[in-house]
Amino acid sequence: MTGGTNGALLAEAQPTAEQPTEAEWAAAVAALTRLPADGRVLLICHVNPDGDALGSMLGFGLGLRRLGVRQLQATFPGRPELPEPFRAMPGLDLLVPATEAYPDPDLVICFDVAAVSRLGALVDRLDRAGAALVLDHHASNTRFGGIHLVDPHAAATSVVVEKLLTRLGVPLDQEIAECLYIALATDTGSFRFDMTTPAVHEMAARLLATGIRPGEISRRIFDSRPFGAVRLYGDVLGRTQLEPAAAGGRGLVWTYATLEDLARHGQRPYTLEPLIDSVRCTVEADVSCVLKQVAEGEWAVSMRSKGATDVSRVAVALGGGGHRLAAGFTAYGAVGDVAEAIRAELSRPGLELSGS
Ligand code: 5GP
Ligand code: MN
Repeated sequence: MTGGTNGALLAEAQPTAEQPTEAEWAAAVAALTRLPADGRVLLICHVNPDGDALGSMLGFGLGLRRLGVRQLQATFPGRPELPEPFRAMPGLDLLVPATEAYPDPDLVICFDVAAVSRLGALVDRLDRAGAALVLDHHASNTRFGGIHLVDPHAAATSVVVEKLLTRLGVPLDQEIAECLYIALATDTGSFRFDMTTPAVHEMAARLLATGIRPGEISRRIFDSRPFGAVRLYGDVLGRTQLEPAAAGGRGLVWTYATLEDLARHGQRPYTLEPLIDSVRCTVEADVSCVLKQVAEGEWAVSMRSKGATDVSRVAVALGGGGHRLAAGFTAYGAVGDVAEAIRAELSRPGLELSGS
């Protein structure tokens, strides 16, 4: 139904990778600086892009434009629809629908993509491109490209992007900074999560020093919702269930939203992305989960942990991936069956994290 447990895949969810090596940084810089003058560069971020995926991709794209790269496209798999909060981001003119992306670019660069499953139909570009560069921060990254800048210690992919821009000699300007700020703020939960290190605040300081307006950006990205969405949240939160005995007694809180819920309130699917933040507040449960229907019998599942449970292992076991405290997967079947599969994975030993 939702995929079986696989020991090898589970191992990929562990933070094995170290920071990128000097050789990897040098290879990435060389791939970009040795590009022919008319070289075509295709930037791809993951399906259903979030702030880190889009912000990292567009911020880097703007940086490449400053470097003089002229044949430059940015894209993501699936329907070319951007969530409303992202429709004022700098660099959007780089975006093309996946169907119009260069079929055989000289260089393809992937942003925030942990595995090829997140590339959808664009996966063929990996083979067709002259070179493939992967910028990411997922510990579960499967290293599917040619050159990898994967830093599992980075709070966001945009941290890797900023370092690469520095090595390329591209200074931050307000447009690049806004993109990277949106990315950094998204993945750190607006600088609330544990990954919010001094280095994260130092990067935020460099971005803010360009003169961008954090209040206006945050309101636009995180705190703007149509009235229909507020009502939709009311319905969906109203059916939230608490299961204190699940996850080895650490507790599970979960809910689901159907296409009918969206239709009733006239809302688009992306409206549901922040819903997990309202569910994970529940103090009685370490693990939270939202099932978002994408089609008949198909669900996009978001999982979070407050720190005591490695939900990436659960997501990988069920065919997805992510980080230890934030992960997801696609599930098939009736809502009750999906919930049961999640319960079963959560009851396995070895998911407990120490030091939380
Ligand atoms: P979200 O719940 O915000 O959609 O995703 C949380 C994390 O899980 C992100 O890091 C994202 O990359 C990962 N994730 C979500 N859905 C999937 C999926 O279907 N497959 C994989 N491999 N990762 C996912
Ligand atoms: Mn990310």
